[in-house]
Amino acid sequence: MTTSDRFATRAIHAGQEFDPTTGAVIPPIYQTSTFVQESIGSLRGGYEYARSGNPTRTALETLLAALEGGKHGLSFASGLAAEDALLRAVLQPGDHVVLGNDVYGGTYRLINRVHGAWGIRNTPVDLADLDAVRAAVSTEATRILWIETPSNPLMKISDVAALVEIGHAAGALVVVDNTFASPALQQPMSLGADVIVHSTTKYLGGHSDVIGGGLVINDDELHDKVKFLQFAAGAVSAPMDAFLTIRGIKTLDVRMERHSANAQAIAEALVGHPALEAVYYPGLPSHPGHELAARQMSGFGGMLSIAVVGGADAARRFAESLEVFQLAESLGGVESLVNYPSAMTHASVKGTELEVPENVVRLSVGIEDVDDLVADVLQALDAS
Ligand SMILES: *Cc1c(COP(=O)(O)O)cnc(C)c1O
Repeated sequence: MTTSDRFATRAIHAGQEFDPTTGAVIPPIYQTSTFVQESIGSLRGGYEYARSGNPTRTALETLLAALEGGKHGLSFASGLAAEDALLRAVLQPGDHVVLGNDVYGGTYRLINRVHGAWGIRNTPVDLADLDAVRAAVSTEATRILWIETPSNPLMKISDVAALVEIGHAAGALVVVDNTFASPALQQPMSLGADVIVHSTTKYLGGHSDVIGGGLVINDDELHDKVKFLQFAAGAVSAPMDAFLTIRGIKTLDVRMERHSANAQAIAEALVGHPALEAVYYPGLPSHPGHELAARQMSGFGGMLSIAVVGGADAARRFAESLEVFQLAESLGGVESLVNYPSAMTHASVKGTELEVPENVVRLSVGIEDVDDLVADVLQALDAS
């Protein structure tokens, strides 16, 4: 297996050697907490106790690094656990983080409330406004520039290469949360990003059956620091969870193609609909980030949002009238989901700079038959 293997091949084979004792094609789920030592301190394959390492987790970590074209992968119990380990490895009290003003609400909550209590300061900025980012990173002891693109839920596209340049000029570590695009559609390390963050709960797992998170890091020293925290604080992914995530990743490439095609069809069916104020989908030529997305991504993804005419009431009625789309938080699974951000995923940022308008509804477009999905959205708009 070489790193020059193309993406779909890597997604199926990286870190997935067959079991040498039986020839089992799929690496086993090592459902064990500890490992026998040949003699005191003499470990088989380096495995000692499963918080420090487990072969199923290693298989996932190798795969994560290969997907993003990075050197080291680390897998965690959730996306936020991964973020927390990274933040604690990098930051000291008094340090400063610049982050998008529309990053995932849980990321903002973690940085602002949890790390804020330990003396970490933050400045949310509009990542599309490069001058504002430049000003924000140069005024303080900025250690991290945190990027999310496309953003949630308004699908704003930020210029990763330009932001990397600004972040590096200020001496900051540039982190990209690549959950929404997935590495099948966007490769931020090739644009200069230092660290990639994933909620593997979403597209990587892809089947809404497992919570998990991952980091991909190139720098050896930073990797060692985060790996130490993974071991010392212990928010690791369990073997069964790692297995489910690996199983999901094998089909990532084909799933993202279908997610993107279905979302594009829905977006096109909705443009100009009289019940809508706006359709937010980077695959639409009218989207302000369309050209940048076309350059920076190899597909536009499965997430789209709409702003409905008639405010909060109409938005709620629309969300509750869908039949194929199920009303639930989260995204990235094969099944279509609808979310009402201001009272669901983004309730925690109400009243802050990250607040989402009350007439916005977010769709995670699944891989069901596209005609069924379009028909469902249109009937729900009639009902709203
Ligand atoms: C869900 C999500 C997270 C958090 O991941 P969990 O697995 O829920 O902890 C982080 N970033 C983005 C963009 C997400 O969608």
